[in-house]
Amino acid sequence: MRMLTILAAGCAAALMCAGCARSAPPAFDGASAFVFLREQCDMGPRYPGSPGHAAIQRYLVEKLAAFGARVSEQPFEAVLSTGDTLRLVNVVGAYRPEARKRILLGAHYDTRPRADRDPDPAKRAQPILGANDGASGVAVLLEIARLLAASPPSVGVDLVFFDGEDWGEEGNTMDYLLGSRRYAKSLGLRRPAAMILVDMVGERDSRMPIEGFSAAASPALCARIYGIARTLRLPNFVQSQGASIIDDHLPFIQAGIPAIDLIDFEYPYWHTLADTPDKCSSESLAAVGSVLVRYLWEER
Ligand SMILES: [Zn+2]
Repeated sequence: MRMLTILAAGCAAALMCAGCARSAPPAFDGASAFVFLREQCDMGPRYPGSPGHAAIQRYLVEKLAAFGARVSEQPFEAVLSTGDTLRLVNVVGAYRPEARKRILLGAHYDTRPRADRDPDPAKRAQPILGANDGASGVAVLLEIARLLAASPPSVGVDLVFFDGEDWGEEGNTMDYLLGSRRYAKSLGLRRPAAMILVDMVGERDSRMPIEGFSAAASPALCARIYGIARTLRLPNFVQSQGASIIDDHLPFIQAGIPAIDLIDFEYPYWHTLADTPDKCSSESLAAVGSVLVRYLWEER
């Protein structure tokens, strides 16, 4: 009887471990993510109104559908400080849409319409390719979508691709963050338990200190994410506070949602024509992606 009990307990343990194995974090593939980065850059600049902008909207919808997400689009007209309007679309891929506890991962997919930081003044009116500033965050989210399709974690996940992040002129914050502001306003009762933004995460040898607004508003979430990075021994995550950056996480902080921004703002090619795929690496994408995957699959 005693032996039987032990055997039964052994079986139960084995079954539980089988369950554990199914929900273990999958491996984030940096090379796969880098393909998604290149595919976006192959579309050319992707600012609102450009052919690349229309192309990436179709691409996101197709990829998310292929990766088993429930896909929705949020079209809207943003009224700019000039009084002009801009037609924009947020794209959302939902996993376990019935789950009440949800984690929102966000990235902007639009690219800047002008290279206003280019060292050559003659080039500053040209649109940028946005390999790091645009494509890198989207690439990380699409690779996570591919993994979610295979074995979703127990929490619901919303991958939100924001439009109109980078439209504004420098010095006029009104015309930035257009998609994230619209999305945060429309949340209603579908408030996520946490929001994590990835932006400019693809630079070779990326270094991401804890962003200032994130540290002030969401210390527990910062500690959790940077704690995972420490466990994984990732030098890309710098374990001290850095600059405060106006980015798509702010509308969520203002809505009272724990929200953080993973960003490497020390990027010499920021808002220049040299923001191209050769400045980025699969290893940097994998560093961020591995932490996010571990976080999602550990959440209950
Ligand atoms: Zn930018």
